[in-house]
Amino acid sequence: MSITSILQTVFGYPAFRGPQQGIIEHVTAGGDALVLMPTGGGKSLCYQIPAIARQQAGQGITVVISPLIALMHDQVGALHEAGVSAAFLNSTLSMQEASDTERRLVQGNITLLYAAPERINTPRFLAQLDSLQERGLLSLFAIDEAHCVSQWGHDFRPEYRALTVLHERYPSVPRIALTATADALTRADIIERLQLQDARLFISSFDRPNIRYTIVEKREATAQLLRFIRYEHLGDAGIVYCQSRKKVEETAAWLCDSGIPALPYHAGLDARVRQANQDQFLRSEGVVMVATIAFGMGIDKPDVRFVAHLDMPKNIEGYYQETGRAGRDGEPADAWMCYGLQDVVNQRRMIDESPAEETFKQGLRGKLEALLGLAEATDCRRVRLLRYFDEASQPCGNCDNCLQAPEVWDATDAARKLLSTVYRVQQMSGFGFGAGHIIDILRGKVTDKVAQRGHQGLSTFGLGADLSESQWRGVLRQLLAIDAVAVDAQAFNTLALTAGSRAVLRGEVPVHLRVAAPKTGKHRALRTGSAALPKVAAELDGAAQACFAALKAWRASVAREHNLPAYVIFHDATLAAIAHNAPQSLDALQGLSGIGARKLEAYGAAVLAVIRDEAAAVARV
Ligand code: ADP
Ligand code: ZN
Repeated sequence: MSITSILQTVFGYPAFRGPQQGIIEHVTAGGDALVLMPTGGGKSLCYQIPAIARQQAGQGITVVISPLIALMHDQVGALHEAGVSAAFLNSTLSMQEASDTERRLVQGNITLLYAAPERINTPRFLAQLDSLQERGLLSLFAIDEAHCVSQWGHDFRPEYRALTVLHERYPSVPRIALTATADALTRADIIERLQLQDARLFISSFDRPNIRYTIVEKREATAQLLRFIRYEHLGDAGIVYCQSRKKVEETAAWLCDSGIPALPYHAGLDARVRQANQDQFLRSEGVVMVATIAFGMGIDKPDVRFVAHLDMPKNIEGYYQETGRAGRDGEPADAWMCYGLQDVVNQRRMIDESPAEETFKQGLRGKLEALLGLAEATDCRRVRLLRYFDEASQPCGNCDNCLQAPEVWDATDAARKLLSTVYRVQQMSGFGFGAGHIIDILRGKVTDKVAQRGHQGLSTFGLGADLSESQWRGVLRQLLAIDAVAVDAQAFNTLALTAGSRAVLRGEVPVHLRVAAPKTGKHRALRTGSAALPKVAAELDGAAQACFAALKAWRASVAREHNLPAYVIFHDATLAAIAHNAPQSLDALQGLSGIGARKLEAYGAAVLAVIRDEAAAVARV
């Protein structure tokens, strides 16, 4: 079969996405490749289709190396559903299961074998590969999540370093390495560590046009989050990231109390609880996972409709990785973050207090500043994000700033007043003070502390009464973002001038701030009625919506029976297309995206029956 007919008949997709075709042609022909593609870009097909094509050509099995042990069962299940012979070897299997799989492996009776990296270097496994190789049945190595080989990546796994054995021992077997981590340092490291110098490099655009980026100022974070979910995503699956385990627990409980089905996930939970919560998130619909960054790598649930950050991540790489988990199915999704001065201060403190070398810390501060710059930006968020990954683009029309250009005010003067106050209190008292006290002075508030220190005598006292406390915090955030002021974590978070302060004091660096949105901002209409419907189905007419609901109920029972997540059977978008077209025959059903030959055979009749029953029910009414 040609690669296009594999795409269409096995996976049921009409066309390749982005650079998939070029990659698949190259690898099917036996070339090595390093693929950099954003999360949701469609990396899996880049090795699955070559694996199928090469197996059909008698070239044997493809070994997929992946660190995502908890997900292998579902990945293999998804291939089975598409009629592809696949298996996995990892520590979750019993002895019996493992030896059954090994037997099939040695017989060359598998198209794709998923294996954990620590297995690769065992003498037993290598002997099995040797035996395949001798018989010409070792077709391809696919190294997924390839950034795990690099200390610069965010998920370093020492076992990945040992993967050089693949190239050394089987130099004639082609390799494809894949990652969603874009930065140049990690890329160079992957090439060197995995000896991919001769591999062809495929770099996709990192844009995720279906994700809408919104960053709001933190007021009452949890209430803001609840409003966001209620107004925009009721009934949707989503992920909420928090900094600390405690906050994860509190937020999950609070959402549950507010009627949103939510579960906690962090490294401090018992492994069984974590696995159970992850399964429930993957298998049930409309669950919100509240998590630390410990959650998410490899979560390939396609219908996560939003990713929310209640705390600011460490850098843009992290932010992009985490938000990228939304909308893998290409349908509209939201990336929503709320952040405030405290986030900035906390992140700074974590860097300052870490035991790392000063040059390394300097690098971390630079990365944090880039993220702050994004958060404070008044122009297109996407242009900034992509520029960070060295990609040029035009204003996107699908971020908060593009959709509603923020009003800005010139805060240059205010910034100078603030810095000069920081300077003066230091001069007068011999030590620094925190943000609250500095703002009190600017606003002319005679607090006990002000009176005690005689700070009402300062020349800047009351000079900033025209600005609210929150506006002053905005000025301070901006100054922190451009490193014109520092927070001394060792001394009660007191503010201090930096080398960058002088230019601002002289008025050489303009400071522009967004005018804060009024507290009772306009909201989109509360999603009612169709609230429990995913967005892809919200546009269906009444009869089609009922049909969609019936199809979902049918899908849920099949998924339970097969012990797989519902989306492995059919995506929401596929069910919505079925409901919309109401096909009457297998032929009509076949043309819809997401319905391959195997699924048509396995489920076609049942799907047509659901449609007929629904039509009959409508006729009776
Ligand atoms: P990645 O591993 O790059 O994050 P996946 O391989 O999980 O992305 O693909 C993301 C989603 O896109 C999956 O649900 C997959 O079925 C779907 N997909 C991939 N390629 C295509 C295509 N050519 N047409 C339609 N859907 C696709
Ligand atoms: Zn934009």
